[in-house]
Amino acid sequence: MSAKIIDGKAFAADVRARVAKQVAALKAAHGITPGLAVVLVGEDPASQVYVRSKGKQTVEAGMASFEHKLAADTPEAELLALIDRLNADPAVNGVLVQLPVPDHIDEAKVLAAIDPAKDVDGFHISNVGLLATGQKAMVPCTPLGCLMLLRDLHGDLSGMEAVVIGRSNIVGKPMAQLLLRDSCTVTVAHSRTRTLPEVVRRADIVVAAVGRPEMVTGDWIKPGATVIDVGINRLAPAETGGKGRLVGDVHFSSAAQVAGAITPVPGGVGPMTIACLLANTLTATARANGLLEPEGLTA
Ligand code: NAD
Repeated sequence: MSAKIIDGKAFAADVRARVAKQVAALKAAHGITPGLAVVLVGEDPASQVYVRSKGKQTVEAGMASFEHKLAADTPEAELLALIDRLNADPAVNGVLVQLPVPDHIDEAKVLAAIDPAKDVDGFHISNVGLLATGQKAMVPCTPLGCLMLLRDLHGDLSGMEAVVIGRSNIVGKPMAQLLLRDSCTVTVAHSRTRTLPEVVRRADIVVAAVGRPEMVTGDWIKPGATVIDVGINRLAPAETGGKGRLVGDVHFSSAAQVAGAITPVPGGVGPMTIACLLANTLTATARANGLLEPEGLTA
């Protein structure tokens, strides 16, 4: 069997286009322009790339983008004061602090300072609790993107066996909650799971969020299963003829022989994350103004 390759790049472009259309309608009908504020502390090169991309795609969707770049030695109190100002600013509907923050800043304190209604990353403890109790939450972007791909492929996920590999707060745990909410039977596997290949082999849906290059091989996959590869790992240049190729947590070529559908890396889950950030900003704007939720763009 040769798996269907799930085109996350095309799907993300479609999500962005749907967001842009609804942003235009919001402006026309209510004179509201959604605004997203992104705060970057320090000069981490990967974070700079993400922040630039987020700003560009925000503007392309017709939203207002507010970028705040702070020096690496910015005191925690200064960052918290900026978050307070963004929380109070009516032009700002979404607030995101790019992680990781420098060591002298307490990440938990920063996440707790963001107004949960503007928490477009979905990391505030209130949103975590709302999601876990099946209530209306802001949902973390990467798991939301995975869910959208799965719903597009399968429609109803009810009754499917799902195995999520990884239990991080930003991917694994919220992914498991979302699948549970869509009535899957969910197993969360992690670094201490025994007989991981056996656990994975019973899954109709496998979501790999581990950070270990090509760990999940084709012989772990149940024939016909859907494989969502969240991992982004850059191989050492020496292993890849000098190029430092990007690979996922799944060994793509062997898994694609067995799976029914699979996301590639790059071009699978990756592009969905920013698309879902835009969707979340639109959702936050609609909720703040007592308007209808954007259709097909929320969990
Ligand atoms: P993390 O390091 O916070 O969590 C990794 C999880 O994997 C842990 O819960 C750990 O228990 C589990 N794990 C580690 N080794 C394991 C093993 N041998 N067997 C089974 N489980 C094991 O990572 P994260 O932030 O959740 O990210 C996971 C991967 O997803 C990374 O490659 C990251 O770069 C990628 N990622 C991609 C996106 C995106 O596509 N936009 C977003 C976030 C993270």
